[in-house]
Amino acid sequence: MTARIVRTVDELRAALAPLRSGAIGFVPTMGALHEGHLSLVRAARSENDTVVLSIFVNPTQFTQAADLETYPRTEEADVALAGTAGADIVFAPSSAEMYPSGFATTVSVDAAITETLEGAVRGRAHFDGVATVVAKLLLAVLPDDAYFGAKDAQQVVVVRRMVADLGIPVRIVQCPTSRDADGLALSSRNTRLTPDERAVATAVPRSLRAAQDAFASGTREASALTDAVRDELSAAGLVPEYAEVVDPRGLEPVASVVRSALLAIAVPVGAVRLIDNVVLVPGEDDRIPLPAIEMSHR
Ligand code: AMP
Repeated sequence: MTARIVRTVDELRAALAPLRSGAIGFVPTMGALHEGHLSLVRAARSENDTVVLSIFVNPTQFTQAADLETYPRTEEADVALAGTAGADIVFAPSSAEMYPSGFATTVSVDAAITETLEGAVRGRAHFDGVATVVAKLLLAVLPDDAYFGAKDAQQVVVVRRMVADLGIPVRIVQCPTSRDADGLALSSRNTRLTPDERAVATAVPRSLRAAQDAFASGTREASALTDAVRDELSAAGLVPEYAEVVDPRGLEPVASVVRSALLAIAVPVGAVRLIDNVVLVPGEDDRIPLPAIEMSHR
């Protein structure tokens, strides 16, 4: 299937108007599409009559100019991949379309969920940028369902809060993290890793797996679980910006895991920040699969 590209909100609304009798699924992205994004498109495809994917590298959520400048942009390939995975429409607006001159509104989700984890490292502006652009995109598409990846677990928490608070009538669907065979979570930024850094980056999923192994053996104390993460990273010469066990809904720190908890980490590898997470559920064992060769080093 070939996806149709539209560049303006007016064109998008006109394209969607005759399709509103069926369900519309929406996948917001910043492009440089990989299998993680395509898994969201397939989920949207399986549950809706029309699928819209957006590509917009949102300047307001970048808190470092170099990260924005070096963010990979591969629009032509993205449109082809999106169509193959089942997207009908690709909405790829310019910055001027999203933020015309005089733009003066920020959607700011307050409190613990935006000031911790990614918010603590990247600053308030990051989730203000995310909430504002997601609100604008949801209002442009007006989908029934919108699909987000569990890799950005905090983003899903913030978007759910924003949608509930503003009364935007959309169902937010969280899809599992897609990983490479060696466990590394797929990310558009992975293409910026050198081959050596890419090899070292395997310590990131391995560190989460070490915590999952400790959890499966009965460890419940958050500090012992994050120590398992830090030890595994340290063996690869890596130091996390944060490694925290938090409540999956409110993101409050958890001292001991008695119900589901989110273990979230951010790890700089060279010039690239990698983020990843797992959910620890007492009584359930769903560990990141790692190739046997990796495990034999342990
Ligand atoms: P991005 O283009 O990085 O802003 O991501 C767009 C959407 O794809 C977000 O909802 C991400 O959480 C999701 N996503 C990114 N990487 C993955 C992955 N490895 N697995 C599943 N979803 C992902």
